Amino acid sequence: MKQILWFRRDLRIEDSALLENAQGEVFPIFIFDIDILDSLPFDDKRVNFIYQSVIDLKQKLLKMNLDLAIFYGKPKEIFKNLKKFGFDEVLCSVDFDFYSKKRDDEIDKIIPLRQFIDSFILNPANHLKNDGTPYKVFTPFYKSLDLLTNSNNIEQRSISKNMVLFHYDYTDVPTLESMGFKLVNLPKILTNGVKELLEKIPMKLSTYKENRDYFYKDATSNLSVFLRFGIISPVMVFNYVRNLKDSDFFIRELFWREFYNYILFHFPNSEFNNFNNIDISWNENEDDFIRWCEGNTGVPIIDAAMRHLNRTGFMHNRLRMIVASFLTKNLFIDWKKGEKYFALKLLDYEASSNIGSWQWGASTGADAAPYFRVFNPYTQSKKFDEKGIFIKSVIKELKDVDSRLFHIENGVQSNLFISYPKAMVDISISRKRAIEKFKEAKNETV
Ligand SMILES: Cc1cc2nc3c(=O)[nH]c(=O)nc-3n(C[C@H](O)[C@H](O)[C@H](O)COP(=O)(O)OP(=O)(O)OC[C@H]3O[C@@H](n4cnc5c(N)ncnc54)[C@H](O)[C@@H]3O)c2cc1C
Repeated sequence: MKQILWFRRDLRIEDSALLENAQGEVFPIFIFDIDILDSLPFDDKRVNFIYQSVIDLKQKLLKMNLDLAIFYGKPKEIFKNLKKFGFDEVLCSVDFDFYSKKRDDEIDKIIPLRQFIDSFILNPANHLKNDGTPYKVFTPFYKSLDLLTNSNNIEQRSISKNMVLFHYDYTDVPTLESMGFKLVNLPKILTNGVKELLEKIPMKLSTYKENRDYFYKDATSNLSVFLRFGIISPVMVFNYVRNLKDSDFFIRELFWREFYNYILFHFPNSEFNNFNNIDISWNENEDDFIRWCEGNTGVPIIDAAMRHLNRTGFMHNRLRMIVASFLTKNLFIDWKKGEKYFALKLLDYEASSNIGSWQWGASTGADAAPYFRVFNPYTQSKKFDEKGIFIKSVIKELKDVDSRLFHIENGVQSNLFISYPKAMVDISISRKRAIEKFKEAKNETV
């Protein structure tokens, strides 16, 4: 047997389906995909993080008498070249988004692919309702999972003992610069590594349920980037956390990630269409969209969240919900535009969670928030950032402003000494307009 072990979003050696199923002569590889990289800015933090993680993986494999060949190019061309070495199969994890499925279908025709559910806990093909159809609502889906009531840990994957390294020149490693990127400083959360984040979890769990929405506090695990690139497996997180006190609520959140992957698997069209099929004529004004992207809406909480995202690649879950509601309801702009923008900026960007959450925010999705539930950004900032700690930390020109003004429409603008844009929409009027448009789209009486 001669196998290629294609590491993609599973950059680890523990609990690895690839290493468990490896047999005979193995060729571990990672590909920096030119088609994906070409659309990214030269100072992209995600590429830096992946690069660092790939080099770490290479070091770990070396310690196991293996290695990692690192390619830069188009996967199809690379596999066409590798075919001449007579590989029997390619082992890799499975992804359900459109781009990945199309790419994998093409590769499978060159060398057969054997794919594993390695980035998620559940196989979405299982866990159907009694009538054999998939769940569309989170709570019944979650309640149906027997692994939650089962006291045993989920078995982690072991490492095969039957493999030898394929003979190849592994020394030729592309640099970030040779791929058109520059080395940038990464946030501490990423450079300190996953071990430190795990160590903090027991302490965070006792207040997680109450504090997780306060975005100025460090109350959540910050594990999403590590889960996204498989530095740690969700099974490892689940097994670790379930043995800790007060973990129920946190585990529920982990399964939102599973649920969105499940939805994307069963309803692949939801990547491009409203899940609930309603036909909405969105606001196409590009200037409105750009003001949202740049954080110049005149609403302090929205602007702080967007500027923080643009600067750091991070955004707290509560803020994601607030800016998504503002874009899709108050500005009435298509969720797909917001989804695409997040895809470009978020360090933890994951197609299934991002698409599912955006559709939820826009009330077009599975288990959708009712369309008449529209977040009021001022009420949200008063509730979750009353003293304006987060807002002031991002929008420096507002650092001396009385924080009470952040929670009043055009409150900051009433201070004539501060140059800050007027709020681009009236919250109450735009809310009513959104509700009416949704009613029309659903053919309900206006
Ligand atoms: C509009 C919008 C877009 C989003 N896009 C993404 C995305 O591209 N990638 C992504 O990983 N998450 C996304 N989320 C979900 C959530 O915001 C992040 O997972 C969370 O903020 C990550 O922080 P954490 O690791 O500290 O989470 P914690 O609160 O510590 O949760 C632990 C883990 O559970 C999972 N999780 C928690 N909440 C959610 C949720 N609501 N939906 C799905 N998974 C969840 C994540 O894997 C997370 O790392 C999005 C949410 C919204 C509202």
